[in-house]
Amino acid sequence: MIISPSICKAFENAPGFNADAFCNIHASDEQISSIRINPAKLNDLSDLSFSVESPVPWCNNGWYLNERPFYTFDPLLHAGAYYVQEASSMFLEQALKQTLDCSVPLKVLDLCAAPGGKSTHIQSVLSPGSVLVSNEVIRSRAAILEENITKWGGANVIVTNNDPRDFSRFNALFHAIVVDAPCSGSGMFRKDASAAENWSADLVALCSQRQQRILADIWPSLKEDGILVYATCSYSVEEDEMIADFIIEELNAESIPLSIESDWNIVSSNSPKHNATGYRFYPYNLKGEGFYLGVFKKTSGGDTFRKKPAAPKWETLAKSSYPILERWLSVKDMRFISINDSILALTQPMEETLLQLQSLYIKRAGITMGKMVGKELIPDHSLALSTLANPSISSIELDRDLALQFLRKEEIRVGDVPKGWTITRYKNHPMGWIKVLTNRINNYYPKEWRILKPA
Ligand code: SAM
Repeated sequence: MIISPSICKAFENAPGFNADAFCNIHASDEQISSIRINPAKLNDLSDLSFSVESPVPWCNNGWYLNERPFYTFDPLLHAGAYYVQEASSMFLEQALKQTLDCSVPLKVLDLCAAPGGKSTHIQSVLSPGSVLVSNEVIRSRAAILEENITKWGGANVIVTNNDPRDFSRFNALFHAIVVDAPCSGSGMFRKDASAAENWSADLVALCSQRQQRILADIWPSLKEDGILVYATCSYSVEEDEMIADFIIEELNAESIPLSIESDWNIVSSNSPKHNATGYRFYPYNLKGEGFYLGVFKKTSGGDTFRKKPAAPKWETLAKSSYPILERWLSVKDMRFISINDSILALTQPMEETLLQLQSLYIKRAGITMGKMVGKELIPDHSLALSTLANPSISSIELDRDLALQFLRKEEIRVGDVPKGWTITRYKNHPMGWIKVLTNRINNYYPKEWRILKPA
C-alpha cells in the first residue's frame, strides 16, 4: 500500500513518528497474524490446528502465528477456544493488571465493545466474582458482540446495546471503564485499505469531538479512584494526546504511567499541555498495528452509586426448580431468574448489577440456560458454550468434517449416541447442541451463526 504524502504529513507531529519507516512498512504489505487463547477453555496449544510462532510480549495468552489460517473453517474458533486479535491491542492487559487488583471482585464497563476483542480479554483477566458490562451502541454490531461473548463462555458478562449517555445516570458504579473509542482508524491502514481511502483531516476532527462527548457522558459512572483506559487505533495527536489533555483538564483526572520493557519498542508519549503519559504502537517498531493507550485515575467526584429500590423486571425462580437447573451446571451457587420465558443463571454480583442496570437495553446476562417446558429444560446454546456447563452432560466428539457439518447446521449422522440433548465437541471443546431422537438427530446450532462460506 502506498501512503499518500498528505497523510504522512498529518502525522508528522505525532511523538515517535518516522515518515520513511511508516511508508516503507506499508509498502512492504507484510501482514501480522495473532490470536489470544481463552485460558478458561484451551490449555494445550497442541489442540490448535496451526502452530504458534512466538508469544506477544505484553500479553500472557497472546501468540503470533507464522501463517494466516482459514479461521472460519476452524471449529475451535467457533468453540471460543481463541480470539483472532491484533497484537498491539492486547497491551490492554498491562493497563488492567498494573492499575487494578484483578483478584478481587470489580465492576468494569467496556463501553465501545463490538466485536468483542477487548471484552473477551477483560473477561479473562478479571476474577469470576467480577462483573463486566460489555456495551455497543450500534445494534448490528451488538449482535456480533453477543455472539463472541457467548462463545467465550464467561458467566460474568452483561451485554448491553446503549448510547454512552445512557450510562451517565449510574453515578460511581464502575471501578474501571475501558473506552476503545471509535476513531479515524489510521492505525489499521495495513489491515484495511478502506481506512486509508476514507481518512481525512475532517474525519479526525469529527472523531475527536465524538471522543470528548463519549468520555464526558460516561465520566459520572466511574467511581472515585476508578481507572479509565482510553485507547484508539489512530496516530493523530488530536485523537490521542489531545484527548488525554481533555481528560485531565475537563474531567479532573490524573495520568497513570505504566511500566513497559524497553525491548517492547513501544513509544511512550507526553501530552502537550499536561504531560499525560500515553503509549504509542508503530508497526515499524514492533509486531502489531498502530495503537494508542492512556490510563487515568478519577481523582474526585462521584457519589457512591445508590441502588434505587426498583422492583426487578424479572421473575425469580422458585427454589423447587433449582435442582432441575443445577444439574446442568458444574457450580451450585447460581441464582436463576426468568425474563421473557428465558431462564438466566447469575452469580450474586451479576444479579445485583443487573438490577442496577435494568433500565438499559440488555442483550444477554450470565448464562442463558434455556426455556422450561413443563419440568424439562430446553437448553440454550449459551449453556453448551459456558465454561460452567456440567462436564457430565451427554456429549459426542466429532471429527473435523462432522464438526464443520454441525457448524453449517447441516444434518449430521452419528451412531450410538443416547437419546436426548447432547453437546457436540471438537477436540473436547463444546460447540453446541444436538437432540438425538429415535430415527434422526436435530441440529440446534444457532441459524444466524452458521458457517455460510463454501469450503
Ligand atoms: N473494543 C472493540 C474490540 O476490541 O473488539 C473495538 C471497538 S471499535 C474501535 C469502536 C466501537 O465504537 C465500534 O464498535 C463502534 O460501533 C462504536 N461506536 C461508534 N460510534 C459510537 C458512539 N457514538 N459511542 C460509542 N461507541 C460508538
